[in-house]
Amino acid sequence: MDILLTNDDGIHAPGLRALREALRALGNVTVVAPASEQSAVGHSITLAHPLVVQELADNAGGLFGYAVEGKPADCVKLAVTHLLPRRPDLVVSGVNAGSNAGINVLYSGTVAAAVEGAFFGITAIAVSLALPEDRHMPRAAALGVKVVRQILDQAPRPGELFNVNIPNLAAGDPLGVRVAEQGLAFYDEWYEARIDPRGRRYFWLKPDGLGPTGERDSDLAALADRRISVTPLHFDLTDRRRLAPMRDWAWEPLG
Ligand code: MN
Repeated sequence: MDILLTNDDGIHAPGLRALREALRALGNVTVVAPASEQSAVGHSITLAHPLVVQELADNAGGLFGYAVEGKPADCVKLAVTHLLPRRPDLVVSGVNAGSNAGINVLYSGTVAAAVEGAFFGITAIAVSLALPEDRHMPRAAALGVKVVRQILDQAPRPGELFNVNIPNLAAGDPLGVRVAEQGLAFYDEWYEARIDPRGRRYFWLKPDGLGPTGERDSDLAALADRRISVTPLHFDLTDRRRLAPMRDWAWEPLG
């Protein structure tokens, strides 16, 4: 199996390195990842600048992967259309340093990379670790691959998309896996106001580290209960319940 591995924390991130090692048990892994951190860039792509690509060697002198001066979605698009010799069977994004649960799914570059894989009709899985510590990344990667393998065992349809979040590992391994819906609770994030050395006011977003607890069946609640959350996602943003009633509105002629 050919696996494309990417992330949004950048090609040097410990989470990506750990996941590369762990994924090798499943197949042939090629890394195509941003050259620098791109967390919370969502699904942005690069239009006004060239996508410079640099090949990086691993410790044994082989190819570690391709560093792209672009966004996570750029990496997947470029990998599938140019860098890979053939279309991968699986796109994996992670392990992200920080959970991508609840509404953070929409800000996430990690999830966006997986979504891009799904656009191409490739099974895609995002893997994130809540309250990350570098020393936990190898275990998070091993757990992530365990979940990836179980998803693949169910023969997902091409283009199916899954979001996997691993809870904080400080207290030991998670207590299990829970299939959960995306939480909708709002994060209590706010801006810290400061004054720069030239007397100008500026703002910096302070993270809500633990995040909201979320609805009972949500990914947020699963993480709070020390469960690995697995959420099937789709990128269709249409509000289908609204379609038929809106078609019946008395739309005025434009003339
Ligand atoms: Mn990130």
